[in-house]
This record gives sequence, structure tokens and C-alpha cells, in this order.
Amino acid sequence: MALIKCKECGKEYSDLAETCPNCGYSEKKAKEKETLCVSSSRKNKYAAGAFTWFFWFVGGQYIYLGLEGRATWYAAAAQTLILISVFLPVFWIFLLVPIIQAILFCAMPQEKFDAKYNSKDSPRISAGRLPLVFLGIFIRCFLIVTILFFILSVIMR
Ligand SMILES: [Zn+2]
Repeated sequence: MALIKCKECGKEYSDLAETCPNCGYSEKKAKEKETLCVSSSRKNKYAAGAFTWFFWFVGGQYIYLGLEGRATWYAAAAQTLILISVFLPVFWIFLLVPIIQAILFCAMPQEKFDAKYNSKDSPRISAGRLPLVFLGIFIRCFLIVTILFFILSVIMR
């Protein structure tokens, strides 16, 4: 029999006991709860691939992965590229980027994906924050397009 220190109240108790006799804390239950919490919100690499494939133009994969900054910049860049592609169709070649990215997500080994996006402190974006994310994308698009048109108008003059 050994003594272990309770994580909740700090008092020592026997490792044979299921719960701390002082405060009732159970290491086993706490661990169960933790794994349950992780598995229910666990990000899936195929979902990441699907989000890339279908929602790349709004940075869907990064919104799914909880990377807000990257999502907004990626989306803004994507929107700008779409706009340019309308005038210069050769720019549609950039469509290869999300296609390759989607394939890479699906082909990524699960452990590597978990280490990158499913660690305990990996970020998440709550549904309530989504309007702000989209507002961020809109503002960036607006800025980029305004600058683009300004440069174009100077060149065309
Ligand atoms: Zn305790």
C-alpha cells in the first residue's frame, strides 16, 4: 500500500481507495471525464479534409480546426484570388491549393493530426463567435480589394 496525494485537497490517502476519504475526489472518474470530453469534441482529419474541399473559400478548414486568425486571412486571400480569377482565368490554378490541402488532411497519419489539432490546449471556435469570424473575413476582403483597386487605378491612369 502506498500513499498518494489528492489532487483536489492535497491530503494523502491510500492508493487502494477509489476516492479521497477527505473530499471524495476520484482520480479514476476525473480521468474518465477528461477522455470523454476530448473524444466528444475531437476533431476528425476527414472532416478537416471535407471542410477544405467544400468551404475553402471561407477558410472552413481553419474555422473547423479553431484557428481563427489563419481562417480569416486564408478566406480573405481566397476571395481576392476568386475576384482576380474572374479577370485573369489563369489564377484559377490556385484552386489546386485547397484540393491538395484536402488530400493532405485525409492522408495525414491520425497521430500526427491529433498531436497538431487534438491536444488538450488546441483552440476551438464556439458557434457564437462565428459571426465575428465572418465579419473579420469581410473586413479583410474589403481592405484587400480596396487596395487592389487603388493600385490598379494608379497603374491604368
Ligand atoms: Zn481529497
